[in-house]
Amino acid sequence: MSHRFILEESKQELLASLERRGIEQRVLNAIAQVPRERFVPPALLHRAYEDTSLPIGHGQTISQPYTVAYMTQLLNVEPGHRVLEVGTGSGYQTAILCALGATVWSIERIGELSQQARRVLNSIGYSPTLIVGDGWEGYPQAAPFDRIIVTAAAPEIPMQLARQLAVGGILVVPVGQNDQHMYQLRRVSENEFDVFSSAQRFRFVPFIRAGHDEAASTPRAGN
Ligand code: SAH
Repeated sequence: MSHRFILEESKQELLASLERRGIEQRVLNAIAQVPRERFVPPALLHRAYEDTSLPIGHGQTISQPYTVAYMTQLLNVEPGHRVLEVGTGSGYQTAILCALGATVWSIERIGELSQQARRVLNSIGYSPTLIVGDGWEGYPQAAPFDRIIVTAAAPEIPMQLARQLAVGGILVVPVGQNDQHMYQLRRVSENEFDVFSSAQRFRFVPFIRAGHDEAASTPRAGN
């Protein structure tokens, strides 16, 4: 019996279930290419192809495969696209974007997660630009982007990020407090955006705004 066989079998089952749920072939191919087992903690290796989110430390999670697939499909990435990701986390979604042929910038506020993601991404042959910092304001240095994806829950549509899209560009972001609907914004002209929101609900860790949310979660005298 080999460990690899077990993982491969569950990976095929996962791909079949994603296909049944309407995920297109191009996205399935990218998911097939990326070894998710490399992005989960060793103790959870055997669960790498369960369709569930898993803890990656620092109170953060690697997103559920279906969620990654659905967001990737809404993002409609083409080879050569300049893509900004906010919330690198484990780096798994980053790898999917690389597998689709995008040039990727990814921002993560927790340095240790970014460093771990870099090690794994480099070891499987991907070299996106990983930035440690607050992604709330996007990454103006490299804007405009063809695509922007936020992998943490935003309280409202982050227009400061939408403004970093090229005309024709697409932003995908989960929006909501306790659970989230997925929003897809398309910049149709300098000042016009089309918006779609999913009926489905998702549950993400919060998109943290430096200075605001951090201060708000720290108890203060008098409160
Ligand atoms: N795509 C990742 C999701 C990780 S969870 C994966 O599947 O592994 C979301 C990540 O967003 C967390 O790692 C969290 O630290 C990060 N995050 C939250 N607010 C942020 C901000 N303002 N700037 C950068 N990263 C942020």
